[in-house]
Amino acid sequence: MNPVRNQSSMSLNSIIKDNIEKQQISNGVDASNGVKITKNTRLIIISCVLGAILITSAILNYFQYRKNQELLKTIESMEKNIRQIQEENLLLRAKLIQPIPEIPGVVLTFDDGPSRHFNKTNPIEHTEMVLDILKSAGVKATFFVLGSQFDKNIAGKGDTLERYKNCLNRQVQEGHTIGIHDYNHIPYWRQSLRQLEKSLDGTANKIKEITGLNPSAYVRSPGGRISPEVEAYLSQKGYKHVYWHIEAEPLNLKPNQYLAHIKSELDKGLRGIILMHDHNASSYLPELIKYLNEKHIKIVPLAEWESKYGLPLTPYQPR
Ligand SMILES: [Zn+2]
Repeated sequence: MNPVRNQSSMSLNSIIKDNIEKQQISNGVDASNGVKITKNTRLIIISCVLGAILITSAILNYFQYRKNQELLKTIESMEKNIRQIQEENLLLRAKLIQPIPEIPGVVLTFDDGPSRHFNKTNPIEHTEMVLDILKSAGVKATFFVLGSQFDKNIAGKGDTLERYKNCLNRQVQEGHTIGIHDYNHIPYWRQSLRQLEKSLDGTANKIKEITGLNPSAYVRSPGGRISPEVEAYLSQKGYKHVYWHIEAEPLNLKPNQYLAHIKSELDKGLRGIILMHDHNASSYLPELIKYLNEKHIKIVPLAEWESKYGLPLTPYQPR
């Protein structure tokens, strides 16, 4: 054997073996025992990666949770502040609506009509009576009417609906102002803006259908209060909310105390818009007009009052 050839052949063998080992290692095969190491190693690596992902995600979730808790606390404290501001605003507005004693005159406003008292032996048609009293005194008033009173499914049986329609026509013909109260007597702040739109439009449509005329821009929420959202909505739609200066029929009084109460308010020097209801006022209105005449307190239409003094601010109802 040629030693040179033998040597070069050995060296070639060793190079080949070396390359095979490298190839095996790069393929993930242990060079010494030829067993696959990748299966376990890969599992360990994958587990480690997954574990790291899980731990990272848990840490991130924890920080997100802490952040959310802090945000919740901030929102709660902001809501508390808003409620506090709303209540302070309510008090401030309540102070602002106090009438100015030097201003002469009052405005007569009636809510909830047309209305009728059902009594089998002695039926009293409140709104008709109020209209008769105003006509004989030669004064003008404003009526905030309910759309449902002209709804044949709600207004009642017999001739009621026709009489209500006649009342509305009389109010227009006799020079009174027609304002919208609500369709179903729900405070505006309790209605969604969509509901409120339906209610105001529904009442306006009834008024137009019966009288041939659109109602005035004056509206009054049942209970008198509104929310900032309602205030913005009304002004955007061109409505004017009419709060009052003198509440003629406070809830804590009995009907036979109303007249004395209004007189005592007037005696204090209070003037401005008087809130009454058709069904109560029919009993004390003649005496009230007599008293106003005696005291030389003028009864003026709402538009005249508004053009001179503006309208009182309406208190907000905090939610
Ligand atoms: Zn009402």
